[in-house]
Amino acid sequence: MTTLLAERTRLRLPADHPPVLLVVIDTEEEFDWSAPFDRGQTSVEAMRDAWRAQELFDAFGIRATWVADYPIVTQPAGYEFLRELVDTGRGTVGAHLHPWVSPPHEEPVNARNSYPGNLPPDLEERKLWRLTDAIEHYVGLRPTVYKAGRYGFGPHTADLLERLGYEVDLSPCAAFDLGADGGPDWSRFDAAPYRFGRARDLVGLPTSGAFVGWLAGAGPALHAASHRAPWAGLRVPGILSRTGALERLLLSPEGYRLEHLKRLTRALLACGTRVLSFSFHSPSLRPGCTSYVRSETELKEFLSLCRQFFEFFLGELGGATMGPLELRQVLLDPPRTTAP
Ligand SMILES: [Zn+2]
Repeated sequence: MTTLLAERTRLRLPADHPPVLLVVIDTEEEFDWSAPFDRGQTSVEAMRDAWRAQELFDAFGIRATWVADYPIVTQPAGYEFLRELVDTGRGTVGAHLHPWVSPPHEEPVNARNSYPGNLPPDLEERKLWRLTDAIEHYVGLRPTVYKAGRYGFGPHTADLLERLGYEVDLSPCAAFDLGADGGPDWSRFDAAPYRFGRARDLVGLPTSGAFVGWLAGAGPALHAASHRAPWAGLRVPGILSRTGALERLLLSPEGYRLEHLKRLTRALLACGTRVLSFSFHSPSLRPGCTSYVRSETELKEFLSLCRQFFEFFLGELGGATMGPLELRQVLLDPPRTTAP
């Protein structure tokens, strides 16, 4: 498999800049995550509950990035919320490509083709054109922030984003391997921001994930070993995580607890990664639409976890929050500090 984004250049915040939190919502239709992909599942009713997260973001001054896919931006329950968000300046909207519900529909629907980077390059391009145009038409903003559906950045995606005028990519999922059903392997990809692009400077801001614990350095190799015989049935990382030696964590309220999010944040800051990307999926805001939030009680716990994490990052750690375009500017052209 080709190494994705091998040519990237890591970027750092200026030394005197507080750590930065980016909040990203994968804004998409409700679908059964355990069933085969289905072009017919395009309901976006869960968007009627999006305000519940937005109220929280407003309280913390967080301008979240809602990366939206085709069913969201072409149906009123989706685009009306996003348009108001943009009009009032309370957040920004990017593009999120779920190929199986994004025209033109030419490819067979299957797990491998659910990763847009696996499509023939011209089809990946035409789908992203259609989505980009739809966002501009329905939401009133030409998106310049992209996040591939299923973290499915592919070998042609960097050039495509550059051609289509994108400036920021949020696709990689640091430390996670999606190879089991044909997706990219990000297990050796770290969470640091980076610059890429041939003629223009694009910035990549991965979803924050990492191997954490005293065996963290061996994480990718142990992960790979656990998938090969004779280790396959031994669940090596599982055993290690129970002892605290090795955990693989994602900065998300979906399936993780506050202590996980704090541990991951401290581990990333300790190794010099001071830009963090916190994310979840919009259907989690309506009970029953994802396995992470099955009842009103669980939704309250979910929002409370988000609130506690924001208090920790923006309060206890003294962090700041930014949108992706503002952050791109700071990373590429740090404000010069005046010499005393
Ligand atoms: Zn998605």
